[in-house]
Amino acid sequence: MKAELLAIGTELLMGELADTNSPFLASRLPPLGIDLQWATLVGDDPEQLTGAFVRGLERSDVIFTTGGLGPTQDDLTRDCIARALGEETVVDPALVQRLEDIFRSRGTDMPPRNIKQAQLIPSAEAIPNPRGTAPGWWVETKGRIIVAMPGPPVEMQGMWQDEVAPRLLKRDRGQVIVTRNIKTNGLSEALVDELISPWLGRENPYLGIYAKPDGIHLRIIAKATDPENAWAMVRPVETGVVEAMRPHVWGFDDETPEQVVGSLLAAQQKTLAVMETCTGGQLASSITDVPGASAYFKGSVTPYSKEAKVAAGVDASIIEHHGEVSEETARAMAQTVRMTLGTDYGLGITGVAGPTEIEGHPVGLVFVALDDGNQVQVQQHRLPPRRVTIKRRAAAAALIELARVLKGGAMNAGRDD
Ligand code: ATP
Ligand code: MG
Repeated sequence: MKAELLAIGTELLMGELADTNSPFLASRLPPLGIDLQWATLVGDDPEQLTGAFVRGLERSDVIFTTGGLGPTQDDLTRDCIARALGEETVVDPALVQRLEDIFRSRGTDMPPRNIKQAQLIPSAEAIPNPRGTAPGWWVETKGRIIVAMPGPPVEMQGMWQDEVAPRLLKRDRGQVIVTRNIKTNGLSEALVDELISPWLGRENPYLGIYAKPDGIHLRIIAKATDPENAWAMVRPVETGVVEAMRPHVWGFDDETPEQVVGSLLAAQQKTLAVMETCTGGQLASSITDVPGASAYFKGSVTPYSKEAKVAAGVDASIIEHHGEVSEETARAMAQTVRMTLGTDYGLGITGVAGPTEIEGHPVGLVFVALDDGNQVQVQQHRLPPRRVTIKRRAAAAALIELARVLKGGAMNAGRDD
């Protein structure tokens, strides 16, 4: 099944809004055997949008759209589908009733404009949207399908999961594509390439190497006529790759370092505190992205000066002797915050985020220290000299090392990137 996506909205074309709906949908089509061939951004312009539907109906079996289902004048998706198909919109009484109920439950009357959201055309069926007012449209005519979904990502993703994906699963599919992502850290790309060379160079299953802020990801992609066969092709490669990379694998698929650390700390009923400088709070920010983090995360200190480090309890003489960016200071930061907050683990990060050197140290030099209550281990990194990259990668590295230790492994002594 050949497909295309239309992300609808002038905000997208003005660069005011980044399109996240298309990547979401693009990643979900291959496992359903749907071959995405085009993804287009279209503004709220009736001529352009109708034209996009006319073109889409000529070249694709299915068109997925997001946006433009609201009640305002610039919400044109329904009208333009109707125009492209030469059909008339009619108001559906059951949909009007539903809208009136929604507004009544909010304690107001339905604004007259919203009647627009109760429209259908003869070849369209409404797709329920319990998360918003706008129902989607499932249009099926002349061997073509149009699936129109709302713009707000929460509504769109909910509709996709509850309604659209299950309907698509029931249809005849072509070749399905499944992927498994293995996330590693601590080895250079060249070394990874060498370790997994037995599986490289094949077309199906394909093994790709991708460098990301949290390490090197290995993605296995298999194509087959059904998901069972595709997964049967993935598994042996997965087992082999994980075996070859074992101490360096920290996660799979969509897992993040903070999720992995969070579930390990929660399962082991352990607590964590952090003191971070060059990451400027990034470490605490990622840790607290995970719901329920308060069960194991006791807090962070971000002392952005020598005075602040001393005020946070770091021994001034250590900083004076060894400098703010040093193994010893990182060690003292991890120990101090762990003892002050009475946690099982303490992480300390100090480094040079740039753009200028500190104490003669180059931009990208970072020390990560982990105090587990018995010993303090320190890891030295040389990260690429870009400020935001350094912040992200240093925070991810600290979490991945903690995950390694929580799984009973030893912390890597150091690493040059
Ligand atoms: P509404 O009823 O909220 O108007 P709608 O279906 O008409 O919904 P739009 O008006 O196109 O959708 O977009 C509403 C909001 O949804 C946007 O302001 C934006 O926050 C979000 N949104 C829309 N399209 C996208 C997209 N492609 N990627 C990410 N967010 C989007
Ligand atoms: Mg709108």
